[in-house]
Order: sequence, then structure tokens, then C-alpha cells
Amino acid sequence: MSSVERQRDFFDICGRCKIDCCKDARPPISLRREEIIKQYLRTNGIEIRDPFVHGEYVFPREDNEGYCIFFDRKTRRCIIQPVKPETCVAGPITFDVNFEECRIEWYLKMEKICPLAGIIYVNKAEFDKHFETARREILQLLRDLPLNELKIILKREEPDTFKIGDEPIPWDILKFSK
Ligand code: SF4
Repeated sequence: MSSVERQRDFFDICGRCKIDCCKDARPPISLRREEIIKQYLRTNGIEIRDPFVHGEYVFPREDNEGYCIFFDRKTRRCIIQPVKPETCVAGPITFDVNFEECRIEWYLKMEKICPLAGIIYVNKAEFDKHFETARREILQLLRDLPLNELKIILKREEPDTFKIGDEPIPWDILKFSK
């Protein structure tokens, strides 16, 4: 699948939204994703100095107001849309890992913090399609992230979400539970 086909562009909904989900977002960046984004920046002649913060886990640098360095304040668009981080593609679906039971738990943001969530929640076809996309992206992230970074990321509180399902961790990423 090409990067262009990773997700439907929801800008018709997100472009009108006044909730700043690209502020204090800190989406996790695997080494694989970091290389993909750097390549995209090079190919498109986009120059950003030190685009990533390498701390307890890797995430995009923020401006002095906390907006992701890839967020264009004028257009309200992500400038790396085709290659953006997995959690940005998956949103408003998010996840947790139950290590004891080796299960991935899926959550949806409440409509009050994400109008898109409200729209897809009441449209089964739209919801199923987006869930498939979100699931694929998050499972790839779980394959790519070091376990210590994943555990740090999972400590971040995600209020105003509700559980929509859970499933066993696929065998090829079960190593996370060891
Ligand atoms: S990578 Fe793009 S979608 Fe994700 S937080 Fe940054 S600007 Fe927003």
C-alpha cells in the first residue's frame, strides 16, 4: 500500500474543527517512521531543523505554544499528511495494551473532544473502514516501537475516551508481553 492510500483525508471535518488536537499531541515516532518522514521532507524540499525530540521516546518537536512542528497554523493542515505518525492516522481511535492478559484495547475519543469521532461513530460503514485503518497503523507501530518506549507512551492519560473493543495481541508482536 502506498503512503498516499494510508487514510481517507478527513480535512472537510477536521479543517472546521477548533479543537487543537495537534497541540501537545506528541505522537510516538518509531525509527522506521522517522526515516520515512525525513525522506518525505527531503523529497518535498521541506526544511525543518531538528524535527524530532529524542527523549524517553521520540516525538515531533513543538513550537513555543506547544503545536506540533508539522502543523501549519495558517492552513490548519499537517504538512506531512501522507506519512504522518501512526497514531495521527488512527485518531480518533486510540489504544492501550493489557500486558497481563496480552490484549490490545481499542478506545474512541468522545465527540466533545473530536467531532470526527461523533460522525464516524454513528455511521457503521465509516466506522468499520476507519477502524480497519487505525488497527493496521497501531499494530505496525507496536511492531516498530521498542518496549521501553511503548511503556512510557502508555502512561500518558487519555481522558474523554471510551472502550470500543479489545483483541489478543497478534502472535508476531506478542514479544511485547514478555
Ligand atoms: S504529525 Fe501532523 S497530524 Fe500528527 S500531531 Fe503533528 S501536525 Fe498533527
